[in-house]
Amino acid sequence: MRPDTPAENVDHPAEAARLERTAGLYPEDAEALLLQAAAHLELSGDRPAATKLYDRLLSSPDGLENAYLVRALKASNLWEHGHEAEARAIIDGVRVASPRDPAPWVIVAEALESHDELEAAQETFTEGARLLLTDVAEPPYSTHPLLFGRHRVRRMLGATHDDWDLLADTLHSSPVSLDELHDPKRVWSLGSNNPAELEAEISRLRAELGTYREALSRPFPVAVLHWPADELAELVASYPALAAEYPSHEEHLATIEGALRELAASGTANLGIVTGTVPSYEAFAASEGASPGDVELLPQYATTLAARGRAVEWPPQRGTSCWCGSGRAYEGCHGTAV
Ligand SMILES: [Zn+2]
Ligand SMILES: [Zn+2]
Repeated sequence: MRPDTPAENVDHPAEAARLERTAGLYPEDAEALLLQAAAHLELSGDRPAATKLYDRLLSSPDGLENAYLVRALKASNLWEHGHEAEARAIIDGVRVASPRDPAPWVIVAEALESHDELEAAQETFTEGARLLLTDVAEPPYSTHPLLFGRHRVRRMLGATHDDWDLLADTLHSSPVSLDELHDPKRVWSLGSNNPAELEAEISRLRAELGTYREALSRPFPVAVLHWPADELAELVASYPALAAEYPSHEEHLATIEGALRELAASGTANLGIVTGTVPSYEAFAASEGASPGDVELLPQYATTLAARGRAVEWPPQRGTSCWCGSGRAYEGCHGTAV
């Protein structure tokens, strides 16, 4: 798959196979790559194959970085192909384990919601919010889906807004307000005279479910290569032929931001940044039978890192820190308007 393939034209089984092959080549990236492969299998409709991948991940001898996320995805997938009892047992297990990561909470709550268990879904969203957002002034970006999902279910239940719902309203940045989007009256009043429209409204709301899986199955981005200062110094010292490409670290950073803005302006969607290290670049050059001093190898290295799931989305989300690693917010660093 080319990185600029639009998401709707993805050949899911082929992409799953590519990711599995890549996982075999780069064991250190296997967990992330196999999760993406499973998302593609789910989207292709081959749920039993996705279950097999989740099981393979869960039985990995070295343990997993995100075991609860894998469990949650497995449960949601199992429920979709008729294994309700097993799915429920896993969901209960995830809730009891209280993971500190918002994603598993969102996935199990959405599984309940999509099977019309709105009360249980609300409880689950709320448990997650209580655990991760109590006494947190500024909810991190990763927790927003928890608040939005909770808002959606509570609107469907006709619950009055509480503080977290108000917070969800202020965090939501689309042109349509969350209240309008999740308006149960709008949804249900349509039912009396036009069942087709009601159906459409409900499926539109349901389309919000599963965004996590969709994100996992996005084509890998068009990525620009970034070297941290110490890596760049080492690179240029070892391969002086690259000095013309990288006059200084400061210029290197400015070039990255400029290149990405140009790509965005020319209509390229799905952009990212990959961070290189000298040893991994040398290994890549060796695998290609090329010299690390060859400038033409750099974009190929970037594409390979992106295909391994190493890209960070550009531009960064509002309020998150800059991609350059300065620790400052993107808006106050490389994201300042020109
Ligand atoms: Zn609201
Ligand atoms: Zn910066």
